[in-house]
Amino acid sequence: MPEYDDCGNCGGEVTDDSDFCPHCGVLFEQAPVVACATHNGSGSCAVCVICGRYLCEICAVEVGGRFLCPEHESIKLVENYALVYQSRDVAEAATVRAMLTPSGQVASEDGEGNLDIPVEDDGGQFDVVDANLFTRGQLARLYVPIPRYLEAMEILKEWRESLKNP
Ligand SMILES: [Zn+2]
Ligand SMILES: [Zn+2]
Ligand SMILES: [Zn+2]
Repeated sequence: MPEYDDCGNCGGEVTDDSDFCPHCGVLFEQAPVVACATHNGSGSCAVCVICGRYLCEICAVEVGGRFLCPEHESIKLVENYALVYQSRDVAEAATVRAMLTPSGQVASEDGEGNLDIPVEDDGGQFDVVDANLFTRGQLARLYVPIPRYLEAMEILKEWRESLKNP
């Protein structure tokens, strides 16, 4: 069993053999030196929490204590979640939520900006709290846990393509 430690940058829990913090992306001192994915000559100081790309000090964008690459720096992050979808079409929002939920990963935000964060149970599944959460005319937003952002975007991309070519 790995031992657990606290990340010196964000305080998140990390295993003591990790090279970087999965919560904030900072690279630890004991990590092997890896070149920046963009600048070959530079050592990296962090990884992007979305895509895992190695980043040097020029490339690393720090947002709310987390490191992101230039491609992913504008993704809206709330707590440990990343925004994947927003719409005033509540029926569509409910469809999208249902589509993303089987892999157990959706948090939603009501029109007042309250985020309903699902609670992870011991089995690593997320509890989907309620089905009837969107109010007509309000902006519904859906979030997934940050490590699942790319996977969720892939599901949404396939869905959008299937709407275009039925
Ligand atoms: Zn950290
Ligand atoms: Zn990235
Ligand atoms: Zn770089």
